[in-house]
Amino acid sequence: MSETPTRVAFLGLGIMGAPMAANLARAGFEVTAWNRTAEKAEALAAGHEGVTVAASPAEAAAAAGTVISMVPDTPEVEAVLLGHDGAAEGLPEGGLAIDMSTIAPTASRSIADRLAEKGIAFLDAPVTGSSPKAEDGTLTIMAGGPQSAFERARPFFDAMGQLVVHAGPQGHGSMVKLINNTLAAVNAAALAEGLTLARAAGLDTDRALEVVASGSGNSAMVALKAEPMLSGDLEPLFKLEHMLKDVRHCLAEAEGLGIGLRLAESAERLYTEAGEKGLGGRDFAAVIGAVDRPD
Ligand code: NAP
Repeated sequence: MSETPTRVAFLGLGIMGAPMAANLARAGFEVTAWNRTAEKAEALAAGHEGVTVAASPAEAAAAAGTVISMVPDTPEVEAVLLGHDGAAEGLPEGGLAIDMSTIAPTASRSIADRLAEKGIAFLDAPVTGSSPKAEDGTLTIMAGGPQSAFERARPFFDAMGQLVVHAGPQGHGSMVKLINNTLAAVNAAALAEGLTLARAAGLDTDRALEVVASGSGNSAMVALKAEPMLSGDLEPLFKLEHMLKDVRHCLAEAEGLGIGLRLAESAERLYTEAGEKGLGGRDFAAVIGAVDRPD
Protein backbone atom coordinates (compact mmCIF):
# COMPACT_ATOMS: atom_id res chain seq x y z
CA MET A 1 0.00 0.00 0.00
CA SER A 2 1.37 3.45 -0.92
CA GLU A 3 1.94 6.13 1.70
CA THR A 4 -0.56 8.91 2.27
CA PRO A 5 0.22 11.58 -0.37
CA THR A 6 1.33 15.00 0.82
CA ARG A 7 1.42 16.88 -2.48
CA VAL A 8 -1.16 17.62 -5.12
CA ALA A 9 -1.31 19.78 -8.25
CA PHE A 10 -4.46 21.83 -8.85
CA LEU A 11 -5.35 23.06 -12.36
CA GLY A 12 -8.16 25.61 -12.77
CA LEU A 13 -8.84 28.16 -10.03
CA GLY A 14 -12.28 29.49 -10.98
CA ILE A 15 -15.40 29.84 -8.81
CA MET A 16 -14.99 26.22 -7.63
CA GLY A 17 -11.31 25.43 -8.08
CA ALA A 18 -9.91 28.29 -5.96
CA PRO A 19 -11.81 27.39 -2.75
CA MET A 20 -11.24 23.65 -3.30
CA ALA A 21 -7.48 24.19 -3.64
CA ALA A 22 -7.55 26.42 -0.57
CA ASN A 23 -9.15 23.62 1.46
CA LEU A 24 -6.45 21.18 0.33
CA ALA A 25 -3.82 23.65 1.56
CA ARG A 26 -5.69 24.13 4.87
CA ALA A 27 -5.74 20.35 5.31
CA GLY A 28 -1.94 20.35 5.11
CA PHE A 29 -1.31 19.31 1.50
CA GLU A 30 1.41 21.07 -0.45
CA VAL A 31 -0.47 22.43 -3.46
CA THR A 32 1.21 23.33 -6.74
CA ALA A 33 -1.36 25.55 -8.43
CA TRP A 34 -1.72 26.43 -12.09
CA ASN A 35 -4.33 28.65 -13.70
CA ARG A 36 -4.62 29.94 -17.27
CA THR A 37 -4.83 33.48 -15.85
CA ALA A 38 -1.75 33.41 -13.62
CA GLU A 39 -2.95 36.17 -11.25
CA LYS A 40 -5.50 33.80 -9.70
CA ALA A 41 -2.78 31.27 -8.83
CA GLU A 42 -0.61 34.04 -7.42
CA ALA A 43 -3.52 35.32 -5.28
CA LEU A 44 -4.13 31.80 -3.94
CA ALA A 45 -0.44 31.37 -3.06
CA ALA A 46 -0.36 34.79 -1.39
CA GLY A 47 -3.33 33.90 0.80
CA HIS A 48 -2.47 30.31 1.74
CA GLU A 49 0.59 28.70 3.23
CA GLY A 50 1.69 25.61 1.33
CA VAL A 51 0.58 26.83 -2.10
CA THR A 52 3.17 27.42 -4.80
CA VAL A 53 2.56 28.60 -8.38
CA ALA A 54 3.55 26.47 -11.37
CA ALA A 55 4.18 27.82 -14.87
CA SER A 56 2.34 25.00 -16.66
CA PRO A 57 0.15 21.96 -15.91
CA ALA A 58 3.18 19.74 -16.63
CA GLU A 59 5.32 21.60 -14.10
CA ALA A 60 2.54 21.50 -11.48
CA ALA A 61 2.04 17.75 -11.99
CA ALA A 62 5.77 16.90 -11.95
CA ALA A 63 6.08 18.51 -8.53
CA ALA A 64 3.14 16.55 -7.10
CA GLY A 65 2.49 13.14 -8.72
CA THR A 66 -1.27 13.60 -8.34
CA VAL A 67 -3.21 16.20 -10.27
CA ILE A 68 -6.75 17.58 -9.89
CA SER A 69 -8.41 19.50 -12.75
CA MET A 70 -11.40 21.85 -12.39
CA VAL A 71 -12.08 23.57 -15.72
CA PRO A 72 -15.26 24.09 -17.79
CA ASP A 73 -15.66 21.20 -20.25
CA THR A 74 -14.06 18.37 -22.26
CA PRO A 75 -11.80 20.48 -24.54
CA GLU A 76 -10.32 22.30 -21.55
CA VAL A 77 -9.83 19.06 -19.56
CA GLU A 78 -8.10 17.48 -22.57
CA ALA A 79 -5.91 20.57 -22.96
CA VAL A 80 -4.73 20.70 -19.34
CA LEU A 81 -4.25 16.92 -18.99
CA LEU A 82 -3.21 15.75 -22.46
CA GLY A 83 -2.25 18.87 -24.45
CA HIS A 84 1.13 20.53 -24.98
CA ASP A 85 2.71 21.09 -21.54
CA GLY A 86 -0.28 19.21 -20.10
CA ALA A 87 -0.21 17.30 -16.83
CA ALA A 88 0.46 13.95 -18.54
CA GLU A 89 3.86 15.29 -19.59
CA GLY A 90 4.78 15.87 -15.95
CA LEU A 91 3.13 12.95 -14.15
CA PRO A 92 5.31 9.89 -13.56
CA GLU A 93 4.19 6.41 -14.55
CA GLY A 94 1.89 5.32 -11.71
CA GLY A 95 0.66 8.91 -11.27
CA LEU A 96 -2.99 9.80 -10.69
CA ALA A 97 -5.21 12.36 -12.47
CA ILE A 98 -8.55 13.31 -10.93
CA ASP A 99 -10.90 15.40 -13.05
CA MET A 100 -13.53 17.16 -10.94
CA SER A 101 -15.03 19.20 -13.80
CA THR A 102 -18.44 18.21 -15.19
CA ILE A 103 -17.89 16.64 -18.60
CA ALA A 104 -19.48 13.87 -20.68
CA PRO A 105 -19.02 10.28 -19.44
CA THR A 106 -17.90 9.21 -22.91
CA ALA A 107 -15.18 11.86 -22.76
CA SER A 108 -14.14 10.73 -19.26
CA ARG A 109 -13.69 7.17 -20.53
CA SER A 110 -11.70 8.33 -23.56
CA ILE A 111 -9.40 10.46 -21.38
CA ALA A 112 -8.94 7.49 -19.01
CA ASP A 113 -7.88 5.27 -21.95
CA ARG A 114 -5.36 7.79 -23.23
CA LEU A 115 -3.87 8.31 -19.75
CA ALA A 116 -3.74 4.54 -19.16
CA GLU A 117 -1.43 4.25 -22.21
CA LYS A 118 1.03 6.36 -20.20
CA GLY A 119 0.52 4.32 -17.02
CA ILE A 120 -1.52 7.08 -15.35
CA ALA A 121 -4.66 6.23 -13.36
CA PHE A 122 -7.76 8.41 -13.79
CA LEU A 123 -10.93 9.23 -11.87
CA ASP A 124 -13.91 11.23 -13.14
CA ALA A 125 -14.98 12.86 -9.89
CA PRO A 126 -17.38 15.77 -10.35
CA VAL A 127 -18.97 17.63 -7.47
CA THR A 128 -22.30 19.12 -6.45
CA GLY A 129 -22.71 22.16 -4.24
CA SER A 130 -21.82 25.65 -5.45
CA SER A 131 -19.15 27.99 -4.17
CA PRO A 132 -20.42 28.15 -0.54
CA LYS A 133 -19.96 24.38 -0.20
CA ALA A 134 -16.63 24.52 -2.03
CA GLU A 135 -15.56 27.15 0.49
CA ASP A 136 -16.58 25.27 3.62
CA GLY A 137 -15.40 21.88 2.34
CA THR A 138 -18.84 20.26 2.27
CA LEU A 139 -19.13 19.37 -1.42
CA THR A 140 -20.69 16.10 -2.53
CA ILE A 141 -18.15 14.19 -4.62
CA MET A 142 -19.10 11.31 -6.95
CA ALA A 143 -16.24 9.34 -8.44
CA GLY A 144 -16.04 6.90 -11.33
CA GLY A 145 -13.02 4.67 -11.86
CA PRO A 146 -11.02 1.85 -10.30
CA GLN A 147 -11.38 1.20 -6.56
CA SER A 148 -7.58 1.48 -6.11
CA ALA A 149 -7.58 4.99 -7.63
CA PHE A 150 -10.57 5.98 -5.49
CA GLU A 151 -8.71 4.90 -2.33
CA ARG A 152 -5.64 6.91 -3.34
CA ALA A 153 -7.82 9.97 -3.96
CA ARG A 154 -9.78 9.66 -0.71
CA PRO A 155 -7.52 11.91 1.45
CA PHE A 156 -7.93 14.72 -1.10
CA PHE A 157 -11.68 14.18 -1.35
CA ASP A 158 -12.03 14.28 2.44
CA ALA A 159 -10.37 17.72 2.48
CA MET A 160 -12.90 19.11 -0.02
CA GLY A 161 -16.11 17.19 0.49
CA GLN A 162 -18.59 15.88 3.01
CA LEU A 163 -20.41 13.10 1.15
CA VAL A 164 -17.91 11.15 -0.97
CA VAL A 165 -19.39 8.39 -3.12
CA HIS A 166 -17.64 5.84 -5.33
CA ALA A 167 -20.37 5.77 -7.98
CA GLY A 168 -18.88 2.88 -9.98
CA PRO A 169 -16.57 2.30 -12.94
CA GLN A 170 -15.09 4.96 -15.24
CA GLY A 171 -17.68 7.48 -16.43
CA HIS A 172 -20.23 6.72 -13.71
CA GLY A 173 -19.25 9.77 -11.64
CA SER A 174 -19.85 11.99 -14.68
CA MET A 175 -23.16 10.27 -15.50
CA VAL A 176 -24.53 10.67 -11.95
CA LYS A 177 -23.54 14.33 -12.06
CA LEU A 178 -25.27 14.97 -15.40
CA ILE A 179 -28.49 13.39 -14.15
CA ASN A 180 -28.35 15.43 -10.94
CA ASN A 181 -27.78 18.70 -12.78
CA THR A 182 -30.47 18.01 -15.35
CA LEU A 183 -32.95 17.47 -12.51
CA ALA A 184 -31.80 20.78 -11.00
CA ALA A 185 -32.07 22.53 -14.38
CA VAL A 186 -35.62 21.28 -14.92
CA ASN A 187 -36.63 22.18 -11.35
CA ALA A 188 -35.15 25.68 -11.64
CA ALA A 189 -36.88 26.26 -14.99
CA ALA A 190 -40.21 25.15 -13.47
CA LEU A 191 -39.63 27.48 -10.51
CA ALA A 192 -38.92 30.37 -12.92
CA GLU A 193 -42.25 29.69 -14.65
CA GLY A 194 -44.12 29.49 -11.32
CA LEU A 195 -42.65 32.75 -10.06
CA THR A 196 -43.35 34.54 -13.35
CA LEU A 197 -46.96 33.36 -13.17
CA ALA A 198 -47.25 34.34 -9.50
CA ARG A 199 -46.11 37.86 -10.26
CA ALA A 200 -48.38 38.18 -13.30
CA ALA A 201 -51.33 37.05 -11.14
CA GLY A 202 -50.51 39.76 -8.61
CA LEU A 203 -49.68 37.31 -5.82
CA ASP A 204 -47.60 38.19 -2.79
CA THR A 205 -44.57 36.08 -3.81
CA ASP A 206 -43.29 35.79 -0.22
CA ARG A 207 -46.59 34.17 0.85
CA ALA A 208 -46.65 31.97 -2.24
CA LEU A 209 -43.09 30.77 -1.60
CA GLU A 210 -43.91 30.12 2.07
CA VAL A 211 -46.59 27.70 0.92
CA VAL A 212 -44.52 26.09 -1.86
CA ALA A 213 -41.55 25.59 0.47
CA SER A 214 -43.66 23.59 2.89
CA GLY A 215 -45.63 21.75 0.22
CA SER A 216 -45.26 19.26 -2.58
CA GLY A 217 -43.93 21.92 -4.98
CA ASN A 218 -40.76 22.27 -2.94
CA SER A 219 -37.28 21.47 -4.24
CA ALA A 220 -33.71 22.48 -3.41
CA MET A 221 -34.12 25.12 -6.13
CA VAL A 222 -36.83 26.93 -4.13
CA ALA A 223 -34.40 27.59 -1.27
CA LEU A 224 -31.44 28.37 -3.53
CA LYS A 225 -32.83 30.18 -6.56
CA ALA A 226 -36.20 31.83 -5.79
CA GLU A 227 -34.59 34.84 -4.12
CA PRO A 228 -32.08 35.55 -6.94
CA MET A 229 -34.85 35.07 -9.52
CA LEU A 230 -37.07 37.60 -7.76
CA SER A 231 -34.41 40.13 -6.79
CA GLY A 232 -32.46 39.93 -10.05
CA ASP A 233 -29.20 39.50 -8.11
CA LEU A 234 -27.60 37.06 -10.56
CA GLU A 235 -24.00 37.11 -9.34
CA PRO A 236 -22.89 33.63 -10.50
CA LEU A 237 -22.57 30.79 -8.04
CA PHE A 238 -23.00 28.43 -10.99
CA LYS A 239 -22.96 29.98 -14.44
CA LEU A 240 -25.94 29.48 -16.73
CA GLU A 241 -23.62 28.53 -19.61
CA HIS A 242 -22.25 25.65 -17.50
CA MET A 243 -25.74 24.42 -16.62
CA LEU A 244 -26.65 24.48 -20.32
CA LYS A 245 -23.50 22.47 -21.12
CA ASP A 246 -24.53 19.84 -18.54
CA VAL A 247 -28.10 19.52 -19.88
CA ARG A 248 -26.73 19.16 -23.42
CA HIS A 249 -24.28 16.45 -22.33
CA CYS A 250 -27.13 14.66 -20.56
CA LEU A 251 -29.34 14.82 -23.67
CA ALA A 252 -26.50 13.48 -25.83
CA GLU A 253 -25.87 10.55 -23.45
CA ALA A 254 -29.61 9.79 -23.33
CA GLU A 255 -29.85 9.89 -27.11
CA GLY A 256 -26.94 7.45 -27.31
CA LEU A 257 -28.94 5.12 -25.06
CA GLY A 258 -32.07 5.55 -27.17
CA ILE A 259 -33.97 7.52 -24.52
CA GLY A 260 -35.89 10.76 -25.19
CA LEU A 261 -35.93 13.31 -22.34
CA ARG A 262 -38.71 15.73 -23.19
CA LEU A 263 -38.55 17.79 -20.00
CA ALA A 264 -34.79 18.14 -20.35
CA GLU A 265 -35.28 19.21 -23.98
CA SER A 266 -37.68 21.96 -22.86
CA ALA A 267 -35.20 23.10 -20.22
CA GLU A 268 -32.43 23.09 -22.85
CA ARG A 269 -34.47 25.47 -25.00
CA LEU A 270 -35.10 27.86 -22.09
CA TYR A 271 -31.42 27.94 -21.01
CA THR A 272 -30.36 28.39 -24.66
CA GLU A 273 -32.71 31.38 -25.01
CA ALA A 274 -31.39 32.90 -21.78
CA GLY A 275 -27.83 32.43 -23.10
CA GLU A 276 -28.80 34.14 -26.35
CA LYS A 277 -30.01 37.09 -24.26
CA GLY A 278 -26.47 37.49 -22.93
CA LEU A 279 -27.11 35.76 -19.59
CA GLY A 280 -24.62 32.86 -20.01
CA GLY A 281 -22.12 34.27 -17.55
CA ARG A 282 -24.78 35.04 -14.92
CA ASP A 283 -26.08 32.54 -12.35
CA PHE A 284 -28.40 29.91 -13.82
CA ALA A 285 -31.28 31.53 -11.89
CA ALA A 286 -31.18 33.85 -14.94
CA VAL A 287 -33.23 31.22 -16.77
CA ILE A 288 -36.19 33.31 -15.54
CA GLY A 289 -35.12 35.80 -18.22
CA ALA A 290 -36.27 33.34 -20.88
CA VAL A 291 -39.75 32.78 -19.43
CA ASP A 292 -42.49 34.65 -21.29
CA ARG A 293 -43.92 37.60 -19.42
CA PRO A 294 -46.83 39.92 -20.12
CA ASP A 295 -45.82 43.51 -21.06
P1 NAP B 1 -15.37 29.10 -13.77
O1 NAP B 1 -15.53 29.95 -12.58
O2 NAP B 1 -15.82 29.58 -15.09
O3 NAP B 1 -13.81 28.68 -13.85
C1 NAP B 1 -13.30 27.99 -14.94
C2 NAP B 1 -11.82 27.72 -14.73
O4 NAP B 1 -11.32 27.04 -15.90
C3 NAP B 1 -10.96 28.97 -14.58
O5 NAP B 1 -9.86 28.67 -13.75
C4 NAP B 1 -10.50 29.22 -16.01
O6 NAP B 1 -9.30 29.93 -16.11
C5 NAP B 1 -10.27 27.80 -16.47
N1 NAP B 1 -10.30 27.70 -17.93
C6 NAP B 1 -11.30 28.11 -18.77
N2 NAP B 1 -10.96 27.85 -20.04
C7 NAP B 1 -9.73 27.29 -20.01
C8 NAP B 1 -8.84 26.82 -21.00
N3 NAP B 1 -9.16 26.85 -22.31
N4 NAP B 1 -7.65 26.29 -20.62
C9 NAP B 1 -7.33 26.24 -19.31
N5 NAP B 1 -8.12 26.66 -18.31
C10 NAP B 1 -9.31 27.19 -18.66
O7 NAP B 1 -16.10 27.69 -13.57
P2 NAP B 1 -16.50 26.91 -12.22
O8 NAP B 1 -17.83 27.37 -11.75
O9 NAP B 1 -15.35 26.90 -11.28
O10 NAP B 1 -16.76 25.45 -12.85
C11 NAP B 1 -15.69 24.54 -13.14
C12 NAP B 1 -16.33 23.17 -13.41
O11 NAP B 1 -17.04 22.75 -12.25
C13 NAP B 1 -17.32 23.15 -14.58
O12 NAP B 1 -17.23 21.92 -15.25
C14 NAP B 1 -18.66 23.27 -13.86
O13 NAP B 1 -19.71 22.73 -14.62
C15 NAP B 1 -18.38 22.47 -12.60
N6 NAP B 1 -19.22 22.78 -11.42
C16 NAP B 1 -19.46 24.06 -11.07
C17 NAP B 1 -20.25 24.31 -9.93
C18 NAP B 1 -20.61 25.71 -9.50
O14 NAP B 1 -21.55 25.82 -8.70
N7 NAP B 1 -19.93 26.74 -9.93
C19 NAP B 1 -20.74 23.25 -9.16
C20 NAP B 1 -20.43 21.95 -9.54
C21 NAP B 1 -19.66 21.73 -10.67
P3 NAP B 1 -9.26 31.57 -16.15
O15 NAP B 1 -9.21 32.00 -14.72
O16 NAP B 1 -8.02 31.87 -16.91
O17 NAP B 1 -10.52 32.01 -16.86
